[in-house]
Amino acid sequence: MTRLPEAATRDRYRGTKRSMLSLLEQRPRFSLLEGSTPIQRLTRLEQAVGCGGCPPIYVKRDDLMGVGGGGNKLRKLEFLIGEALDQGCDTFITTGARQSNHARLSAASAARAGLSCELVLTDTVARNDEAYRRNGNVLLNDLFGATVLRRPGDVDALAVAQDRAEQLSVEGRRAYVVGSGGSSPLGCLGYAVCAEEIMAQEQDLGLRFNRIIVPNGSSGTHAGLAAGLKAAGDEPGRIESFTVLAPIEKARAVTAELAARTLALIDPVSAFAGGDIVVTDGQLGEGYGVPTDAMFESVQLVARSEGLLLDPVYGGKAFAGLIAAIRDGAWRNQEPVLFVMTGGLPGMFAYEPAFRRTWLH
Ligand SMILES: *Cc1c(COP(=O)(O)O)cnc(C)c1O
Repeated sequence: MTRLPEAATRDRYRGTKRSMLSLLEQRPRFSLLEGSTPIQRLTRLEQAVGCGGCPPIYVKRDDLMGVGGGGNKLRKLEFLIGEALDQGCDTFITTGARQSNHARLSAASAARAGLSCELVLTDTVARNDEAYRRNGNVLLNDLFGATVLRRPGDVDALAVAQDRAEQLSVEGRRAYVVGSGGSSPLGCLGYAVCAEEIMAQEQDLGLRFNRIIVPNGSSGTHAGLAAGLKAAGDEPGRIESFTVLAPIEKARAVTAELAARTLALIDPVSAFAGGDIVVTDGQLGEGYGVPTDAMFESVQLVARSEGLLLDPVYGGKAFAGLIAAIRDGAWRNQEPVLFVMTGGLPGMFAYEPAFRRTWLH
């Protein structure tokens, strides 16, 4: 199907891999995953997308993880909670939108690590129905015992979180603070590890994905994968993310900066080149958390052809981008595509009225 790297490249890859691993292994890490997540081919979906020249479509099941309902934030939280414990913290504080998956998984991971958890959640998405206010991640945050500080959409949530940490320190406690999506360079290391995992799985499968598609929210998933591939001497340009949060120029700038800062942690001598960071527009619609028709279609198509679950805010929109590119003939070749499924199922229940409306018209 696709050529494996030449022996010389492979040896260089192994050498670099060792040094990246040794830098990664020095970091404290709190285990939240049970080994690699599977990669699966979706042949019924390939037929359902309905085009003659459809490339083989594979998914990496980062929705299959054991803690808190699973999802991409757990990879970041392994490093973030690891550092919090290493620093002797007793509380984990983070920020997000009201239905943040990162907030929910922080609450679950903190519970598992024996830390208190406080969540500064802002009303950044203009939805105020019962399901959005109370169900999905909001329900689970309460179940995991987190303290929720709700704020209006225009508030600087990170500043609120830092003020709260200072208040706690006056009381003799110690808080670890990380911003939305857990996308500090340290958190992004979780996806540098995932890049290694994908490279190893490619060797096992005897193929190479020439496109790796991810949603882009706080940009840490893309940045971490890019840093991991670059540090291993591989091509970060085969990762393509669809922005579902920031306008395209901002998404590109944030992703590039975060990728560079993450790479500096594992491979201080190399640097990204032009074309290494590919962020694509076209699926954001009216904004973060606002459903699009293409999102409804892709979530339904994946559910009905494969029995798999995408979420309405991230995966549904990014997968819509993948479907559109294939239907447009933009990727008309036989080279396999990998889509990283990032979890977020609880978000579905927050959008229950929106999904019902699409089936009723
Ligand atoms: C946060 C999130 C993303 C986006 O990841 P970033 O690292 O923030 O870009 C994608 N999918 C789901 C389900 C998420 O919760």
